[in-house]
Amino acid sequence: MDSFIDVPERLALKGVSRRDFMKFCGLMATVLGLPMSFVPKIAHAVAKRPPVVWLHFAECTGCTESFIRSTHPWAADIILDTIDLAYHETIMAAAGDQAEEILEKTVKDNKGKFICIAEGAIPTKDKGVYGKIHGKTFLEIGNHVCKNALATIAVGNCACSGGVAAAKPNPTECKSVAEAIGIKTVNLEGCPPNADNMVATVVHFLLFGKMPAVDDLGRPLFAYGYLIHDNCPRRGHYENEEFVQEFGDEGAAKGWCLLKVGCAGPKTYHNCPKIKWNQGTNWPIEAGHPCIGCSEPKFWDEMAPFYVAK
Ligand code: SF4
Repeated sequence: MDSFIDVPERLALKGVSRRDFMKFCGLMATVLGLPMSFVPKIAHAVAKRPPVVWLHFAECTGCTESFIRSTHPWAADIILDTIDLAYHETIMAAAGDQAEEILEKTVKDNKGKFICIAEGAIPTKDKGVYGKIHGKTFLEIGNHVCKNALATIAVGNCACSGGVAAAKPNPTECKSVAEAIGIKTVNLEGCPPNADNMVATVVHFLLFGKMPAVDDLGRPLFAYGYLIHDNCPRRGHYENEEFVQEFGDEGAAKGWCLLKVGCAGPKTYHNCPKIKWNQGTNWPIEAGHPCIGCSEPKFWDEMAPFYVAK
């Protein structure tokens, strides 16, 4: 196991300062709702570097993009240094047979010890023939890898509840990872999910030796424990019945409530108002875009049509 000293030293080689590393640990404490006294413990915990296998199924790779691009500039370096990312088709250097050998070896050598992160839904019609990698169906890959993992974290609406791949008419009978394989997953809902929540889930595991507490949909309570509506900066306008009636009107310019242009904040659980996006600078509602409920199961069917009052 690497020591705490090794982490900042390794990161320094990548241009990430000790100060940025401690800022990252503070960010993780904030996301997890822990007091700042946990910051040194987080700094030690992330030295453990668990093996992680990241699987892609039926999806658009937007969750990976969210993970590696939209966070603090130094966080991607810290995250990729924190975990031992053994297999990830988008960013790994290996390809073809070599990549699949790495996957097999990681699963075999770390049976019951590695974390699987799964992105995308799994087609189940006709024995899953509509999604294959290296001659194996997603169904076969999921059964093999997820069932040998210590835990599986489903990232994104597709992996957690089927997403756009399972939206009507769902011709390939796509299902969530949990439903297709018959396992329990920790579900980081969102289209895409917030990278800070993804990392915080792994950090929670390293810190406490277990996955975070979840709601009845498998979503970590630290991130999905309260309604967007209850923490929305436009909530005062909602109470005063000051609503945007159409995009570009006077109410929009004044930052009024977006309910009448389809905001799904009153029925969507997510910590967007708290941690925001793009380095914590902003998030859709603050930017004038109604919440479309992307962290709720089957939102493509349940929340559509978007942009109209429900
Ligand atoms: S903008 Fe949406 S989340 Fe915010 S107060 Fe209005 S309805 Fe609620």
